[in-house]
Amino acid sequence: MQKYSEMSKEQLQALKKELDQQYAEIKAQGLALDMSRGKPSVDQLNISMDMMDVLSSSTDLRCETGVDCRNYGVMDGIPEAKRLLGEISEVDPEHIIIYGNSSLNVMFDTVSRSMTHGVMGNTPWCKLDKVKFLCPVPGYDRHFKITEFFGIEMINVPMSPEGPDMDMVEKLVSEDPAIKGIWCVPKYSNPQGYTYSEETVKRFARLKPAAPDFRIYWDNAYSVHHLYDDEKEQDFLLEILDECAKAGNPDMVYKFTSTSKISFPGSGIAALAASKANLDDIRKYITVQTIGHDKLNQLRHVKFFKNLDGVHAHMSRHAAILRPKFEMVEATLEKELGGLGIGEWTTPKGGYFISFESMEGCAKKIVAMAKEAGVVMTGAGATYPYGKDPKDSNIRIAPSFPPIDELEKAAKVFVVCVKLASVEKLLAE
Ligand code: PMP
Repeated sequence: MQKYSEMSKEQLQALKKELDQQYAEIKAQGLALDMSRGKPSVDQLNISMDMMDVLSSSTDLRCETGVDCRNYGVMDGIPEAKRLLGEISEVDPEHIIIYGNSSLNVMFDTVSRSMTHGVMGNTPWCKLDKVKFLCPVPGYDRHFKITEFFGIEMINVPMSPEGPDMDMVEKLVSEDPAIKGIWCVPKYSNPQGYTYSEETVKRFARLKPAAPDFRIYWDNAYSVHHLYDDEKEQDFLLEILDECAKAGNPDMVYKFTSTSKISFPGSGIAALAASKANLDDIRKYITVQTIGHDKLNQLRHVKFFKNLDGVHAHMSRHAAILRPKFEMVEATLEKELGGLGIGEWTTPKGGYFISFESMEGCAKKIVAMAKEAGVVMTGAGATYPYGKDPKDSNIRIAPSFPPIDELEKAAKVFVVCVKLASVEKLLAE
């Protein structure tokens, strides 16, 4: 396999001719495929269908403390739901508040509350000249949209397979009191599928922030979302709340989770785990905000999953559907691009994404070419704050939604676009 960068101009020109032809043929097929968002497929949604039957008009709709779930009340969530989400989050139910249907909503709400009312008695962020967040990159576009929406300045922090660059995080957080938070997807990260190492988690827990209201936004969206059943093939993540408490920083972290990609996205249940002091602070706000979240949905989830074993068994069924898709995309990338020196990609053991790094300056072009050929990808740049990828090289591949035959076609289109964009770039140099 010859690297593209080692090819002569003549070789590149001949290759371009061939690729132009392939691209034209693909376009002529009039494809309409989508590899853009991390949505579960129809087959995955179908495995949760029995959840629609666990409640019926004849079900006793009281929770275990006897409260009628059809009525108002129980602001924190019913105890059995706190236990279930506590198990998923690996924290004691005492440290959990159950919210509504979306953890992203809880994150937005958390930033919003900090802006208007401050964190545990500290000055509301809206009264400060400057508020900044650290953003490990590439990262989750919707996190960055939240901080952008509130006018919070975002600072890129490079990611490695071990997690964010902790030298940089430690330095910035300890020196700058305007830094109030950091967005983290610590397990099977979006988009690389990386899991923070034990050392990274310990360094997070030991941070010495200049701002007393600095918080780690620990979005554990993919905590049980393994692609493989064998534990040896699963990533392990150290529990952060416990580590923070041990390090004398019990209040430094908010841990978010939801059942979105366990049951039904948009109709799951979300939870926040944090120290007692943080939760007490937040409860003052929730009491004004709502009379209570959807307890019937909480009950439905508990009756369906029962406990963590039930969740794991269910996730194994998700994995059986997702695994061949990931493996097929990775095999296609390896077969078509391996050794060419025009792209690198991650091979995650869980989560929803594969992260692709093209040659510098090619990502936008690849995504545009794919679109023209009928394959929608996540917009290039979306994985960076303000939509600005400084190297224009990162592309997020989301293999979950399309049926595998469509995904196969889409992956083949993608590799042709990568090759063509790379050849054009080299010819232009
Ligand atoms: N966090 C991450 C890292 C995600 O990838 C997603 C969904 N794509 C969410 C949060 C959204 O979660 P929810 O449905 O609970 O709002």
